[in-house]
Amino acid sequence: MPAAPLIDAYGRIHDNLRISVTDRCNIRCFYCMPETEVQFVPRAEILSFEEMERFARIAVTLGITKLRITGGEPLLRKDLHLLIRKLAAIPGVADLALTTNGVLLPQLAGPLYEAGLRRINIHLDTLDRERFLRITRRDDLDRVLEGIALCRRLGYHPIKINAVAVKNLTEPDIVPLARFGRENGLEVRFIEFMPLDAERRWDRGQVLLADEILEVLSRGIAPLEEIPDRDPRAPATEYRYADGLGRIGFIASVSRPFCLNCNRIRLTADGHLRYCLFAIEETDVKPLLRGGADDGQIEELIRAAVGGKWEGHEINSARFIPPPRPMYSIGG
Ligand code: SF4
Repeated sequence: MPAAPLIDAYGRIHDNLRISVTDRCNIRCFYCMPETEVQFVPRAEILSFEEMERFARIAVTLGITKLRITGGEPLLRKDLHLLIRKLAAIPGVADLALTTNGVLLPQLAGPLYEAGLRRINIHLDTLDRERFLRITRRDDLDRVLEGIALCRRLGYHPIKINAVAVKNLTEPDIVPLARFGRENGLEVRFIEFMPLDAERRWDRGQVLLADEILEVLSRGIAPLEEIPDRDPRAPATEYRYADGLGRIGFIASVSRPFCLNCNRIRLTADGHLRYCLFAIEETDVKPLLRGGADDGQIEELIRAAVGGKWEGHEINSARFIPPPRPMYSIGG
């Protein structure tokens, strides 16, 4: 008899697990990581592929069907294709995706595709070399574009572009990125800047709102019409151009929170289970994974974590406290 689904106190069914495979990254986006003196988890604390696979296998028995691989930058994890192959082989996994900054795609898009990966999100905020450098503190735009072109040739689908929108910085990128998506069959999703930066410099004034971006696109490219939710639990609200050429998405955590439909839990690279991107508390799974616990004990832990999940982030309330972990050590 199938196990009872993972339902929290608000009636939300959880079927989506995001696994961070490393907190390391090869770029330094200012809205995520400090430029220098980054605190990384000691390597011995990082879960092995076997531990990640075991956790995923147990989670699948509880109704998880979607897996997303994140980081830091997941392509920095050596032999990542081996983990992809393991996860793709778990019966019950209906959807396996990965989010990357794309810098290592020229070398690794092939082996990952061979291992069974088909869906990929590539983080790219600008097509302008100077602004890329300013945002990421690295001069790698060409490699990212080369990686995107290779993913298209290999047949990854869908390929989505995740673009963090920051006020008074990325406005000039909105139309060029959207055009780039239309011309190359890529779905661009604009992400509102969230208070997850390691240096705690986020403020509301820096958030370029989804409605503002929509306005710019409707004037600069073509009118947009909202697509009725394919999956209301997916974080992005999607639009199509009135001329039928392409789609655009918005992940508007600040101006249009979507917590009431949340179906996600996260496993950090050092084995902590988080019921929310912004959670203050988390559950350490490592002692069980490394301490001889049986699958039942780990199931109980997952159920307890989901059972204790809060209603949603409190970015828009005076009670908001940034999570103790910055974005790079949680994963998108
Ligand atoms: S902020 Fe937390 S509860 Fe809200 S959608 Fe994101 S992960 Fe889910």
